[in-house]
Amino acid sequence: MTGFVYLVGAGPGDPELLTLKAVKALARAEVVLCDDLVGEGVLVHVRAGARIVRVGKRGGCRSTPQEFIQRLMVREARRGRVVVRLKGGDPFVFGRGGEECEALRAAGIPFEVVNGITAALAAATALGIPLTHRALCHGAILVTGHEREGGKTDWRALVATGLPLVIYMGVARCEALQAALLEAGMAPAMPAAAVSNVTRADERCLVTRLDRLAGSLRREALASPAILVIGEVARSAAGNRAALPLRAARLPG
Ligand code: SAH
Repeated sequence: MTGFVYLVGAGPGDPELLTLKAVKALARAEVVLCDDLVGEGVLVHVRAGARIVRVGKRGGCRSTPQEFIQRLMVREARRGRVVVRLKGGDPFVFGRGGEECEALRAAGIPFEVVNGITAALAAATALGIPLTHRALCHGAILVTGHEREGGKTDWRALVATGLPLVIYMGVARCEALQAALLEAGMAPAMPAAAVSNVTRADERCLVTRLDRLAGSLRREALASPAILVIGEVARSAAGNRAALPLRAARLPG
């Protein structure tokens, strides 16, 4: 009997942002293959007695090769188990969920993808700004700042759209990104914001301008995982954030 795989988005950190579908899948799981961006608060929903395997591959750290994760997922499902592949944010936003679905399809294993709240959306909320604001822009661009994946990015073309850029995996290369965006013609005074560890206890934000972004990130030691939001929509972030209710005001439990 073949098992079943749920590819589940765990959201950015706060367990209250899990979907009901995610909680139900975790409650059914016999094996959980878990990214290291996923916090303990999410794992409390895993069924008692289930095996939890950490298969993190955080940038710069030792990692479990993608092929190994996929083989493990397929093997456990072939043993008839209910497997949850738990990923930070949404499985299909820079999450390699596509490759994992292909592996499951090729192996003939039934699966379901469960959305999670992606870091970009949580970051915008933390900053108190909409990513799209009718008066300012007609869209937003989600893009990676990671060297290898972002190596072919045509920053000039992206800047020319006038849309806000929401950059994943950008902190490690922030100097190069800042230079590339200035070179691509973005205004030096363009508002730029960063949010690290969004929705977690150690969440931090900063709001500055493009030409000061890398310096501010270094000075504030604002580190990965973080989202950068660069564009007019970030202008009101400083004021709006101050006006937000404290995180501590969240419902308990
Ligand atoms: N699938 C994830 C993204 C994985 S790529 C999602 O949908 O959110 C990893 C990058 O996501 C990090 O480098 C960072 O840019 C961003 N990220 C993930 N979790 C984050 C968090 N809690 N706070 C800020 N950024 C986060």
